This record gives sequence, C-alpha cells and structure tokens, in this order.
Amino acid sequence: MRLLLIEDEIRLSHYIKKGLTEQGFAVDTAYDGEEGLYLAKEETYDVIILDVMLPKLNGIEVCKKLHLSKKNTPVLMLTARSETEDKILGLESGADDYLTKPFVFAELKARINALLRRSYHQVTINLSIDTLEVDPLKHVVKRNNKMIKLTPKEFAILELLLRRKNEVVTRTQVIEHVWDYNFDSLSNVVDVFMGTLRKKIDRGFKKKLIHTLHGIGYMISDRPPKI
Ligand code: CA
Repeated sequence: MRLLLIEDEIRLSHYIKKGLTEQGFAVDTAYDGEEGLYLAKEETYDVIILDVMLPKLNGIEVCKKLHLSKKNTPVLMLTARSETEDKILGLESGADDYLTKPFVFAELKARINALLRRSYHQVTINLSIDTLEVDPLKHVVKRNNKMIKLTPKEFAILELLLRRKNEVVTRTQVIEHVWDYNFDSLSNVVDVFMGTLRKKIDRGFKKKLIHTLHGIGYMISDRPPKI
C-alpha cells in the first residue's frame, strides 16, 4: 500500500517513514502543503497522512482543495494536542480521521489499516483466501497453518492482491500502490518480486492462488481466471 506523508517536521517525518517502510508500506514525503497537494493530485495513494500546521498551505486547505479536485483518497490528519478546533475544522474539510500528536506508532498503524479497510470495503481485517491467511496488522502469513516468511515488498504486493481478490490488478497498479515515487517503472523488478512471491505462496500446493494474465496483470483467486 502506498502512502503520502505531508509533514514539515523533518525528524518526525523520517521517523514515520522509516516505521511505515519497515511495515511494507511505500511512503512518499512532502514537507509543505503545496508540494503535498501536488503529489496528492498527480499520484495514486491509498492513504494520505496530513499535518495541520504546514508551510505554504496548511493541512485544512490541502484537504479542502483535494476534496474539490474529486480525489477521494482517505486522509488521516495529524493535529497537536491543544488544537481541538483543528480537529473539527479538519473533519469538516473532509479528513476521514485524525490523530493527536504525540502519538504511539502502533496507533498510527492501526488507524491507517482502518482507513484502508474502509476504502477497500472490507468488514474484517483478516485477509484470507482458500488455505492462505494474512493478518495485515501482525504481518503474519500462513498457508495450511504453516508460516510463510515474506519481505516487506512481497507482503505489500500480496496484501494489494488480497484486498482486491478475484479482480485483475495491473502491473501499473502494483507499481502505484507498492513502490514510491523514485521507482523506475521500466525495470522488471515487479516481475521478479511476483516470481518469488508466487514461489513462496504456491510452491508445493496443487491449487495455485496467484495467477498471471499475460499482458494484463495479476490476480489472486482460488479459481483459475477466465480470460
Ligand atoms: Ca507541522
């Protein structure tokens, strides 16, 4: 899942980005409201983490303008403890949730996951298909009750496929949701990751779950795709 972090406090931004990257998220960062709004409009994100007090354009304005541009990316707003008014303004300007600074990292992660769940219309957080079970909060993957170790990127791809199970996910969508802005989309890195992911998930099982639709994309399904 790909996130945009708009936060001008450099140390906090680095801390959040590092933590989320370790969890398998791709994170782009912006340090002022204008840059953040530009990226939010031009790129595809699953969740935007938006600070209120920002140079050039504050978080409330970013949120309003984003709303006007019909981008419906979920927004998690970061507010300081004393800024009760900011919370109200934030929610009124179209933010989907807010988190008060200072916060613990686990809470940030839980709120991001809640927003992802909402935007992918999922009721439960446990993503599973056939004998494959994935818990995005604990980062646990099991098939037939046996643990499978995935790298953060492999996990991110699997999570994307599972959030859209039985649907085709194009190579471009994988890049958009799993890699950050600096990714070279001409490289064959996606195919390499898909190859190792498929081995880890499907090798040794009669029923294959990860399918490649040549020239179209990928799909996770417990039935072979009819295309
Ligand atoms: Ca700030």
